[in-house]
Amino acid sequence: MTISSFSDLDLSPPILRALSDMGFEEPTPIQKQAIPLLMAGQDIAGQAQTGTGKTAAYAIPGIERCKEELRAVQVLVLCPTRELCVQIAAEYTRLLKYRKDIHVLPIYGGQAIDGQIRELKRGVHICIGTPGRILDHIARTTLSLSNVHLVVLDEADQMLDMGFRPDIESILSYVPRERQTVIFSATLPKPILQISRRYQRDPEMVRIAHKEL
Ligand code: ADP
Ligand code: MG
Repeated sequence: MTISSFSDLDLSPPILRALSDMGFEEPTPIQKQAIPLLMAGQDIAGQAQTGTGKTAAYAIPGIERCKEELRAVQVLVLCPTRELCVQIAAEYTRLLKYRKDIHVLPIYGGQAIDGQIRELKRGVHICIGTPGRILDHIARTTLSLSNVHLVVLDEADQMLDMGFRPDIESILSYVPRERQTVIFSATLPKPILQISRRYQRDPEMVRIAHKEL
């Protein structure tokens, strides 16, 4: 089927309403490709430039597959910087405007850990974090990844450039094997393809050449 609007994507009414409030009229090319694949449980290794709408591409299917009654982290997004954590969390918050039962928490270093621990205790469904601080919470047992069914490595090439590979691999060892793994990156160099081979299951390679918003 050709997808021309968000209503062709089998999304729930609260998400469709939020998208409409956000002024998103139609899915971007990466969203058209990625959302149906992710809703069907497929892994993706996606290459697309900045500004092509990758956040919503993985955020929407993750939200739709979240169980609000399960008070545990079910979606884990790893990204390289505090600024990105905040930006991604803000996009989730807009998408969740009519789903106040789902809680999102950005977790990054340089911010007091106590507040993060308090929030985690109150119940977080979707966690967006930088690798170092996520590992810190795992070590303190203030974050459990045993209910995570979707892991996203966002800006994967940048994370590897910053030396996060060992942290990422360590974090992935705490996530159940029965999960979906998504990699988004501006480029797909060899180390990323290695991570893809090691941690993804039969991934669909999705490439968007140019920014076409
Ligand atoms: P990327 O992660 O690929 O760099 P983002 O997910 O940050 O891109 O999206 C870039 C901008 O485009 C954001 O401001 C986002 O809210 C907006 N955007 C995303 N999808 C759409 C859409 N379908 N229609 C209009 N704007 C969109
Ligand atoms: Mg992005």
